[in-house]
Amino acid sequence: ADRSYRDLGPAKIKVVVRKRPINKKEITRGEEDIITVADSANSLIVHEPKLKVDLTAYVEKHEFVFDAILDENVTNHEVYLETVEPIIPGLFQQTKATCFAYGQTGSGKTFTMRPLPLKASEYILYLMQQPGYIEEGFQLWLSFFEIYGGKLFDLLNGKSKLCMREDGRQQVCIVGLKEFQISSLESLKGYIDLGSSARSTGSTGANEESSRSHAILQLCIKRPQESTDKKRSRIVGKMSFIDLAGSERGADTTDNDRQTRLEGAEINKSLLALKECIRALDSDQNHIPFRGSKLTEVLRDSFVGNSKTVMISCISPSSGSCEHTLNTLRYADRVK
Ligand code: ADP
Ligand code: MG
Repeated sequence: ADRSYRDLGPAKIKVVVRKRPINKKEITRGEEDIITVADSANSLIVHEPKLKVDLTAYVEKHEFVFDAILDENVTNHEVYLETVEPIIPGLFQQTKATCFAYGQTGSGKTFTMRPLPLKASEYILYLMQQPGYIEEGFQLWLSFFEIYGGKLFDLLNGKSKLCMREDGRQQVCIVGLKEFQISSLESLKGYIDLGSSARSTGSTGANEESSRSHAILQLCIKRPQESTDKKRSRIVGKMSFIDLAGSERGADTTDNDRQTRLEGAEINKSLLALKECIRALDSDQNHIPFRGSKLTEVLRDSFVGNSKTVMISCISPSSGSCEHTLNTLRYADRVK
């Protein structure tokens, strides 16, 4: 498809929707693709199947407009070009950036997020070698942790529990979080695989566990500090890739199981706080309500100053997911 990619430009926030292909399971259940994407590729229509009181079927249409709609034919590389790539050069100039994947479990968040840090790092490592950059001695560092039930766990250190504090310069500091310097894509891939498998080792199965946690992978560009203490380095820019908990989990607040209810309430709180922070950020408010949840507290230093945010809202095209899809699109509509 002939697609023109707009960069983030002066905008701080970009909200895109990614529609995944309908799958065999959904087709077997007799469900249909109810999402049509306009040719201009920035609006979509949800054709909601409904019944009248006399049980005759009809369709209610809901139209949404976003910065871009990535349909089922769009590749992960095209997602990267549309969302993350435009941000990368700025990371060498004090930018903090965040890329979120939002949506119900099974909508394609992990499928979408997983390749992004690799592609971003490939470009970062390339830039680091270019004239104008190479003299600076930039370094690329990685960390990978999750927020589960309002607590932080290091995915690259046996899921050890972490705590957070702020240093004097309002930088968020996660005490004990392991950081690894990245010099090749192979080593980065190893860390991503390690962290991803740590995330999904739950007794209840991969998607069960990961749908209840937020996974946060951070790439940090640093520069060695010109001081007597040679080991120190300063953060230049930082990009966070966040695979959010399944949005439907925020509704688990009436579940019979107490643990599930508590987790649902926590997820609900963090997704609401995130929405409020992004809205405040975009309207240039001085007060960003980051204290609303652990997720937003951790991202505090990415919500101030020269920051960029990309939200990728993932949706299933299937009629069986219509309600969740409408919820996802309404959420995304509020942050755009
Ligand atoms: P989530 O992380 O939101 O729970 P996943 O990323 O695990 O969802 O995706 C659910 C399933 O759908 C996986 O098997 C994944 O491979 C598949 N899938 C998701 N998005 C796409 C896509 N754009 N193209 C092909 N398959 C996809
Ligand atoms: Mg997932």
